[in-house]
Amino acid sequence: RLAELDDVHWTAEPTFCSDDPDFEAEIAPINKPQDLGKEVGTRRDSLPEEITNAITQASDIQAGWNGLGGEKRALLLEAAADLFEQNSAEFLSLCQREAGKTLVDAVLELREAVDFLRYYAGEARRMFTQPVMLPGPTGEENRLSMAGRGVFATISPWNFPLAIFIGPAAAALAAGNTVVAKPAEQTPLIAALAVKLCHQAGIPEAVFQLLPGAGDVGEMITSDPRLAGVAFTGSTDTARAINRSLAAREGPIATFIAETGGQNAMIVDSSALPEQVTRDVIASAFQSAGQRCSAQRMLYLQEDIFDETLAMIWGAFDALDIGDPTLLSTDVGPVIDPDAKAALERHVARRKKAGRTVWRRKLPKGTGTTGCFVAPTIIEIDSILDLKRENFGPILHVARFKADELEQVIEDINATGFGLTLGLHSRIEATRRLVEAKAKVGNFYVNRNQIGAVVESQPFGGEGLSGTGPKAGGPHYVARFATERVVCIDTT
Ligand code: ADP
Repeated sequence: RLAELDDVHWTAEPTFCSDDPDFEAEIAPINKPQDLGKEVGTRRDSLPEEITNAITQASDIQAGWNGLGGEKRALLLEAAADLFEQNSAEFLSLCQREAGKTLVDAVLELREAVDFLRYYAGEARRMFTQPVMLPGPTGEENRLSMAGRGVFATISPWNFPLAIFIGPAAAALAAGNTVVAKPAEQTPLIAALAVKLCHQAGIPEAVFQLLPGAGDVGEMITSDPRLAGVAFTGSTDTARAINRSLAAREGPIATFIAETGGQNAMIVDSSALPEQVTRDVIASAFQSAGQRCSAQRMLYLQEDIFDETLAMIWGAFDALDIGDPTLLSTDVGPVIDPDAKAALERHVARRKKAGRTVWRRKLPKGTGTTGCFVAPTIIEIDSILDLKRENFGPILHVARFKADELEQVIEDINATGFGLTLGLHSRIEATRRLVEAKAKVGNFYVNRNQIGAVVESQPFGGEGLSGTGPKAGGPHYVARFATERVVCIDTT
């Protein structure tokens, strides 16, 4: 069926930043533990004229891409998903070498990326193939159709270098937009492979363009008045900077979709099952070395179970395997880079200096000097409001509360302004209802861990300082990338 695409006339001759032979040459599949800590590749940043040209080409070709219709765009996204699966070994290797992911995390990430491509392909079919017929006064036919808005920029972080890179881009493409994509400066190779495979699948190069670089490249992209919108995932501060830049431009009022950080708490009352709490705290706080937007930063334990539950958590914490992410036995790998490690160590040192109780795991021999490893840490504090910034790594804070302080705990969590994930362990239905009604969070998890978005069934995203929504992988996401048109025809 892809042969049907041959009759489409594409208006631009694309050139493409990642066609640079030096850049491609870096993507060789190597997967040996001894490669850890070594240079994986070099990034060539996009030049100002490359950014301008990319947006020109993306603008010129957008009407053609939109005119292709939802069904054909869906076929192309599905063909890309097939190629992602066929190239899984290379993706997994890059996730480990470029992003330091454990094999389990790399597999989950690839799975999510493929799910995004297939789900948004389905959304392209559902929303963009048939106009919706609207009821109206007798004698008039009213229909609503959806189309791409124009050129979208996607700006993504390093912590999900594949899934969060491809998800927003796939949604924008599904809706009929063309895309210029800037991956995080730490993980351009994974992004380059993803874009290359999309092109191999038949998505024209001018339609989906890669613009590697750091924040300054992001700033140049988002200040271009021709952009119809930006889909961003990263820190709250950067989201604010992009929002200001979009507001200051001439040109259309841009759509801005932002997924930002969290100060994610879990509340555990004395009706909870301690074994289950232990398992879920360890997964929520330390899987992916705590480098998930959804990761648990704060644990509120009811006072009467505090010592006993913490002792169990400590036991499991003590059994975590830390080290080389290419080993199947590893639970906690490295953090992304030396800057991240330094910031986390500063946080722990400040708390120690303030006299707080700090439990730390010892790092295995060698890991302290050869890689960016941070020892998993638990720190006792009084309240979530003591945390001034997101600590993006394997650090969990713990505080105690009395049964009659539950509402105050929820108020404090809300007062952080973040609203991404919240966990609750309680067997009391009234408590569940109370927390659900009062907490201002995007994803609320009860009696389970609080990580792991699932495309279609558990879409993900926050509110307040945590982002604009809509939820990635959910039924309202792709619509945000589209514009609606109503046509009314008097048929009398
Ligand atoms: P993180 O803390 O996850 O690295 P950042 O917000 O710094 O979060 O980065 C997320 C993405 O935003 C990266 O791709 C980064 O290069 C990009 N970025 C950083 N600053 C800007 C900016 N001023 N304008 C546009 N993009 C930016």
